[in-house]
Amino acid sequence: MSAIVLSGRELAAQLRAQATTVGCELRSRGIAPALAVVTATADEAAAAYVRSIVRAAKRMEIDCAVHDLGPSATAADLRNRLIKLSLDPDIHGIVLQAPVPPGVSAVDVAAAIDPAKDVDGANPTSLGRLAAGSSAFAPATAEAVMVLLDHYGIPLSGRHVTVVGRSTVVGKPVAHLLLARHATVTICHSRTADLAAHTREADVIVVAAGQPGLVTGAHVKPGSCVIDVGTNSDGAGGIVGDVEAETVEAVAGALSPVPGGVGPVTATLLVEHAIRAASSAADGRS
Ligand code: NAD
Repeated sequence: MSAIVLSGRELAAQLRAQATTVGCELRSRGIAPALAVVTATADEAAAAYVRSIVRAAKRMEIDCAVHDLGPSATAADLRNRLIKLSLDPDIHGIVLQAPVPPGVSAVDVAAAIDPAKDVDGANPTSLGRLAAGSSAFAPATAEAVMVLLDHYGIPLSGRHVTVVGRSTVVGKPVAHLLLARHATVTICHSRTADLAAHTREADVIVVAAGQPGLVTGAHVKPGSCVIDVGTNSDGAGGIVGDVEAETVEAVAGALSPVPGGVGPVTATLLVEHAIRAASSAADGRS
């Protein structure tokens, strides 16, 4: 068996086209949607991801400014910048790029982002709303997983989904979104005793661990769907996922590639969220 490739590039192009039209309409009303990305890391994979957000914004014709505070930024530096951007009426979306410097709590700092501009769902208020099932911007990566699954018609209701990773930016929010779609969800993490026992039970596996090659063909039930969220530097300027593609594609029914799977959809959704936030602000609903 050779797994179907769940490409995010084609889907991202569709999403871009729809959101760009909305952005054009806003500009014709004198509103210029604008996104700000705040970063404080020297991490190579994070830098590549920020470049992909800037590229997506450019293609969707919206302003995107990167505020690089450097890897020695303090919690106060980050908080002050996020407050300033939250108060700026010309900024509609704010992203706090992970990882933040050692000793800084991303969730505590993200509390400074105005929830109406929290286009990556990082503020604890947004995360709480997501868990409660009330409307909020979901973290873009978690939403990208859902949009990719829906685009390829992968059924979720009543199906068993195993999520590998329990981070606040990916694992936990994607588990909430899957529960809201009536999937039966198992969450695995670094202390899970027998990972393969849980992944082999799953109809869908979402892997977000940051561990290249963690999930192999031996972890996968024949015909299942595997979404690889991993974005790890390969040390040579490229990125690799968390899935050992050669062995998994021989067993799975569908696999999202890295690069070209979840990543392009995530960047596009972030920009789409900023356009939506600008639209809500313009309508006085923010
Ligand atoms: P994180 O380090 O915050 O969390 C990793 C999670 O994986 C933890 O919950 C940990 O318990 C779990 N884990 C680690 N080793 C494990 C193991 N051996 N078995 C089972 N679970 C294990 O990372 P994160 O921010 O959630 O990111 C995860 C991956 O997703 C990274 O590669 C990151 O670069 C990538 N990512 C991709 C996008 C995208 O848009 N494609 C966005 C965000 C993050």
